[in-house]
Amino acid sequence: VDIYVAVLRNVADETIGAVVVLHDISELDRLERVRRDFVANASHELKTPITVIRGLAETILDDEDMDAGIRHSFTEKIHAQSIRLSKLVTDLMTLSRLESVQGEQDSQLIDLGEVVRRSINSFRQVCQDKQLTMKLELASDKQVLIPGDIQGISQLVDNLIDNAVKYTPEGGLVSISLVSSKDSAELVVEDSGIGIGYQYQQRVFERFYRVDKARSRELGGTGLGLSIVKNIAEQHAGSVSLKSEPGVGSTFTVIIPL
Ligand code: ADP
Repeated sequence: VDIYVAVLRNVADETIGAVVVLHDISELDRLERVRRDFVANASHELKTPITVIRGLAETILDDEDMDAGIRHSFTEKIHAQSIRLSKLVTDLMTLSRLESVQGEQDSQLIDLGEVVRRSINSFRQVCQDKQLTMKLELASDKQVLIPGDIQGISQLVDNLIDNAVKYTPEGGLVSISLVSSKDSAELVVEDSGIGIGYQYQQRVFERFYRVDKARSRELGGTGLGLSIVKNIAEQHAGSVSLKSEPGVGSTFTVIIPL
């Protein structure tokens, strides 16, 4: 609701009343605003690395006698920014794909345990470097099969584990569990990391929302990971929820109906 307030005064400048206009913004207006914000945010996010890349490249081009060490460090920065740019474009394309298919994605039976194991494997090196312990708990030996889009589900799992690894300091613990009941599968990704303040817990699923922008950037984040997770979970008629305590850790739970 848009609220407009005006105070009415008489000629002697005494307050004689007020007018309050409550304007109910329709769902369409709200969606249009969300879309506009998104385009503005995306453009800004794309522009930042481009500006850095351009500035550094121009500096290198302008200075033919540049010290080799400085040139090397500039080139490394250009490389890092281009990786960031490419990750951003990939995430934006994923979001756009998710929105265009709206539930008509390729559906097949997916072995969720297998997807999780594969994802864990791809983080083995990072875990070793950060001395993180990654644990997997499977409730039973039986396969957990869910109908869905394998590409999307793999991305959902990757994004949650990637965050757990990113936001957990050295020596921490990431534990992943998979439980299935008669009618749903539950994936839990828990970490002993920095946690998320209560006031931010709902907002982290919004596109481009980050609790600490500088930290996320430094870690290679785009601010789109959790919005992609939420989108994919909902596309599978499921949901994602978060429990977290700052300084203690975070637990993300995804529930997908079978
Ligand atoms: P990013 O690319 O910045 O990681 P995400 O959409 O994946 O973007 O997450 C949004 C924000 O939520 C992050 O910037 C971070 O502040 C917070 N966050 C996500 N996962 C975790 C986690 N496991 N522990 C602590 N903070 C997290």
